[in-house]
Amino acid sequence: MASIVNSKKIAKVMEKECVGCGSCTKSCPRSAIDVPKGICAVVDSASCVGCGLCQKACPASVIEIKARALEGGGEAA
Ligand code: SF4
Ligand code: SF4
Repeated sequence: MASIVNSKKIAKVMEKECVGCGSCTKSCPRSAIDVPKGICAVVDSASCVGCGLCQKACPASVIEIKARALEGGGEAA
C-alpha cells in the first residue's frame, strides 16, 4: 500500500528521452519507479522521496529531481 511521503522533491522522467532500460527501477530503494511494458519509466509520486538514486543510475540522463507540489497531491511541472 502506498503512503504519501513527506518529501519536497520528486523524480521526473523526461518521457520522450527514456529508452526503457530499467536501470532506474533497480536503483530505487522504495520501488517508486517502474517501466511498464518496458516502454518508459513512470514515477509513483506517493512513494518517491526524491533521493536521486535513479537519476544517478540512468545511463541516458533523462531523470530530473524536481520540487514537489505538496498541495493537492499533484506534481510540480
Ligand atoms: S528519486 Fe529515489 S525514491 Fe524517487 S524514484 Fe528515484 S530512486 Fe526512487
Ligand atoms: S534508467 Fe533512465 S532511460 Fe532507463 S528506464 Fe530509467 S529513466 Fe528510462
